[in-house]
Amino acid sequence: MNRVKTALARLWKRLLAAVCVVACICSVAACGSGDETGKIRIGIKFDQPGLGFKKSGTYVGFDVDVAKYVAKQLGYSEDEIVWKEAPSKQREAMLQNGDVDMILATYSITDARKNAVSFAGPYFVAGQDLLVRRDDTSIKGPEDLNGKRLCSVTGSTSATTVKEKFANEVQLMEQPGYAECATALFSGIVDAVTTDDIILAGLASASRGKLKVVGKPFTQEYYGVGIKKGDKAFAKKINAAIESMIKDGAWQRAVEDNTKGTGYKPNAQYNPPKPTEGE
Ligand code: GLU
Repeated sequence: MNRVKTALARLWKRLLAAVCVVACICSVAACGSGDETGKIRIGIKFDQPGLGFKKSGTYVGFDVDVAKYVAKQLGYSEDEIVWKEAPSKQREAMLQNGDVDMILATYSITDARKNAVSFAGPYFVAGQDLLVRRDDTSIKGPEDLNGKRLCSVTGSTSATTVKEKFANEVQLMEQPGYAECATALFSGIVDAVTTDDIILAGLASASRGKLKVVGKPFTQEYYGVGIKKGDKAFAKKINAAIESMIKDGAWQRAVEDNTKGTGYKPNAQYNPPKPTEGE
């Protein structure tokens, strides 16, 4: 009888030990979800000054400010945000794979993208423009692009627009990010960088006067908050947050803070926009 008891006790102990091992692994790794439980994962750009920019471990820019405001309204404090880099080409896949909960990364709302993802917003309206070297006088607008070499980013509406509108007259080089395009412009590999005016204003400002924005926007880019396709309830909550950000003056402050010193002014004809997408 005693022997049976001790055998049972031993078995019980082993069982407890096994449970503990599983529990310990789970607590360290948060059972497979890393340290992301209870947090919101937000995709932004890391290399676009004024919009989404990684600066010695912190994140700054207009997209970051809008993201923080929206996250707060959704019930997440700043330290409950996990920032993830969302390069132009990877945004749809990141939302489809569930790598992020939302994307605020100068992400234009388009019908083509709406086949894969949904949007809330818009929270800003930019326009595609051109960035050239300071001493360039040959490019004064999109009408001067004949024979020019342009740089833009793979997976952006900017590259698509060049292919649709100027395919026969320009040479297009595609890069993973706009910072790489600015480098190509510095070194004379291309004659202009093309994307949204607010992005170009940040790059021009970072170049300390070596690059200038042409200032003749030729599209409207409605910046949306990318979310998983079909999540109408989430879109509604995000739209309410954007609406409140515009109403309480935080939106205007964020625009001013993040474009200070660049000379950039948002197009007042379209800004601030009405966030009604995706509901
Ligand atoms: N807004 C444009 C887009 O969504 C260009 C900027 C970007 O690549 O993020 O494609």
